[in-house]
Amino acid sequence: MIKTQKGTRDIIFPEILNWQDMEEKALKIFRSANFEEIRTPIFEATELFARGVGETTDIVNKEMYTFEKSERSITLRPENTAGVVRSFIENGMHKKPVPVKLWYHGPMFRYERPQAGRQRQFHQVGVEMFGIKEPMADVEVISLAVQFLKSLGLNDLEVEINSLGCSECRTKFKQALKAAIKPVLNKLCPDCQSRFEKNPLRILDCKVPECINELSSPEIQKVIGSDFICEECSTHFNKVKELLTALDIKYNVNKQLVRGLDYYNRTVFEIKSNNLGSQNAVCGGGRYDGLVEMLGGVPAPAVGWAMGMERLNSLLPQKEARKIDYYIVSDNQIEAVKMAQKLRENGKTAEFDYQGKKFGKQFEKAGKIANYALILGEDEIKNGEVSVKNMETGEQNKYKTEEFLRG
Ligand SMILES: [Zn+2]
Ligand SMILES: [Zn+2]
Repeated sequence: MIKTQKGTRDIIFPEILNWQDMEEKALKIFRSANFEEIRTPIFEATELFARGVGETTDIVNKEMYTFEKSERSITLRPENTAGVVRSFIENGMHKKPVPVKLWYHGPMFRYERPQAGRQRQFHQVGVEMFGIKEPMADVEVISLAVQFLKSLGLNDLEVEINSLGCSECRTKFKQALKAAIKPVLNKLCPDCQSRFEKNPLRILDCKVPECINELSSPEIQKVIGSDFICEECSTHFNKVKELLTALDIKYNVNKQLVRGLDYYNRTVFEIKSNNLGSQNAVCGGGRYDGLVEMLGGVPAPAVGWAMGMERLNSLLPQKEARKIDYYIVSDNQIEAVKMAQKLRENGKTAEFDYQGKKFGKQFEKAGKIANYALILGEDEIKNGEVSVKNMETGEQNKYKTEEFLRG
């Protein structure tokens, strides 16, 4: 038997009901905030991710599905911000009035060791907002994330924020951080040792216990806790905090929050959910004002976030299948199928018996799957009538077919 590949899985009934719910809520909420959906290709030029995600990231170094076709190096997207930015540039969206507000959902691919809730083909939903450098944009996308999560029923949320500052702020911070880490560098994991030169900030992200332990030393914590951001960056961050407070969004400042990707500047954030007892990061994002230019576009500020849909789904209760509106009980299949089609045209859900089963069996089926049985017996057909039985209460009424269909 041929089976799914390691790290991939089928999303089937009833789990698919949760996925449809997430997608419907996303469409509704993002549309209400005037975000347009964007669907970029699943594969892109490898170079896009090397430049857009960062050559020093684990994603680019270890986790990409890369292959050659006609001497071109192609990669299955490991995330979608780079693809959206490529599309923004390629389609000249910088000429449109700002802001340009986009959202997406779909599969991403990373070659990781599969663990609970971590797939090689996984799904993300995310938003990207281009053209606004003001703090209100940061807060708008954070509040949209909160609204989306609440609409799914995740209420116990914690927003963590930090400011990475601009490149000048970061240079100062990196120098101080390196000076503090250097004495214990040989105690850190091999990944962190190579991060030390290439991107020391990412050491703050390391999940290896020894690294977490070393970073908790007072000397290093003092550097992490101190303020390296310049006046302009500081004003921006204060405004973000002020606006979050004004919108009643509770947050904590987490100075160790850097996010895993190279391109962020100023505001970065994570949202954690305390649903089902354990705390889980469900959303990560931030500002990336330099990325559009880095990928060859006219400079444009941008801010966005992504959420892992497998993680979200794992926090949601399983949705129950909804009953259909009508099951048509009849021994005249032609009339039954015609009635089903009319009901469906009227926006109702309707089914009928395909196999010529006895009335009793058809009623049994109606009781299991439908709110109403619609009975089309010989008499009803002859008189242009339908009998409708409420399967919950047992109440039954007869109507003229035309009147019934007019509702
Ligand atoms: Zn700065
Ligand atoms: Zn480490």
